[in-house]
Amino acid sequence: MQVPSIEEVLAQDLDELRRCPAGRAADDAAARAACAGCEAEVCVKIVSVADFPSEFGQFRIVGFVNNKDAKDHIAILKGELGEGEDVLVRVHSACLTGDALGSRRCDCGPQLHAALRAIEKEGRGVVVYHQEEGRGIGLVNKLRAYALQDQGYDTLDANLALGFKADEREYRIPAEMLRKLGVKSVRLMTNNPEKVEHMEAAGLRVSERVAHELPVHHHDAAYLRTKKERFGHLLALDHEGKGK
Ligand SMILES: [Zn+2]
Repeated sequence: MQVPSIEEVLAQDLDELRRCPAGRAADDAAARAACAGCEAEVCVKIVSVADFPSEFGQFRIVGFVNNKDAKDHIAILKGELGEGEDVLVRVHSACLTGDALGSRRCDCGPQLHAALRAIEKEGRGVVVYHQEEGRGIGLVNKLRAYALQDQGYDTLDANLALGFKADEREYRIPAEMLRKLGVKSVRLMTNNPEKVEHMEAAGLRVSERVAHELPVHHHDAAYLRTKKERFGHLLALDHEGKGK
C-alpha cells in the first residue's frame, strides 16, 4: 500500500486525481509515470491513510478517489495484510439509515458492526465502505422505495417501480480498492452469492465465502425474507421473530 506523504496530502487536487491519465496527451510524462504499468479501466488512488480508533477496535482508515464516480469510497483496515492472501473482507454498501441511525428496516448496521468486530478479533482484514446507498439508487430514492414498501411493495418491486434495476451496484471499484491495499484473495463476509460472483468478475479471487448472518428483528424480517427469496441470499433466518 502506498501511503501518501504529508506533502502529497497537502498538494492533492482531488479532481485532478480522479482523472485517469489513460487517454491523456502522450507528452503528459508526469501523469504517465504516476500510473506506469496500469492498464485498468477502473483507476483508484489512495489519497489518505490515518489512524482510526473506534468502539469496534483499532483500525486505519483509507480514503480513495477513482475515475468512475465522484463518490468517497473508503476502507477500514486492520493489521498488516502481508502477502494479501485470504484476507477477511466485508464490502459493505453504505446505508445511512442502518449504519448511523439504527434503522430496523434493514440489517446493515449490525452487519457492519459485526464485520468490524470480526476483523478486530482476527487482527487482520478490511471493510470497504462502498458508497452505494440503497443498492446504488441513492439515499433519497431509497426513502422513496420505503414509502412504496409501506404500501405493500417489497424491496425489489419498489426499486423496479421507481425505474431502477434490482441492484445498481458497481463492484469494480471496491475490487480495485482492495487490490490497491495489496489484497490478492479474500474471505468475503456476505450472504449474497452475487457479490461473490461480482468480485470474481472484477478480478479478485474469493477463496471463501464467510456467512454473515445476524439475529432477525421483527421489523426487518420481511426485508430479510425478500433478500432470501427474491435476491437469492443464503440466509437460514432461523432466529426469525426472536429478536426485539
Ligand atoms: Zn440498510
